[in-house]
Amino acid sequence: MSGKKAVSDSDNYYTVQTSCPQCEKSATIVQVPETVPLFGQILLQTIVCTHCGFKWSDVMSVEVREPSGYEVHIKHERDLSTKLIRNSSGTVEIPELGVLLEPGALSEGFFTNMEGLLERVENVLSMLIRSNAGVTRKNAEEVMEKLLLCKAGKLPFTVRVLDPYGGSALIGENVKRFKLTKEQLAKLKKGVSFV
Ligand SMILES: [Zn+2]
Repeated sequence: MSGKKAVSDSDNYYTVQTSCPQCEKSATIVQVPETVPLFGQILLQTIVCTHCGFKWSDVMSVEVREPSGYEVHIKHERDLSTKLIRNSSGTVEIPELGVLLEPGALSEGFFTNMEGLLERVENVLSMLIRSNAGVTRKNAEEVMEKLLLCKAGKLPFTVRVLDPYGGSALIGENVKRFKLTKEQLAKLKKGVSFV
């Protein structure tokens, strides 16, 4: 089972011409609309530039939303199907693994489930393990050990999603939604969008 399956079952897509944020030549935005139960309409967008190879994805909410936070405790294998919409302005935390994904110039949006989220973290850890030695490598290996247990549904973990524009969300049975306080809002990084 792959997290990618959830991304789109739809063959409907639209293309829009734009200029590449990297080389300024003409690039294409591919847009795929999708309806997510309990959330609403989203738009999966990818900019592709054939001139310089630039590629960037984001997930936009079609409706205007309030700043919001979500939290879920993943305790059983079945909870791994909890869905995550991550807009490029969303902050994603997995405290048990020390993972903090913040908006930034290169942050991308994606639509996946908990399995897909863990796979993304796994890819980053693999890279760290391959390209480092010493403490960095040892830390990454320790997190990797825990992550594999999480993936197998053998180690409970928490996922928290905070978004100042409300475009990110967790969707599933045990998800709790909460309002962001002024303090939380002030602390959040906002992110950059290319589209
Ligand atoms: Zn380009």
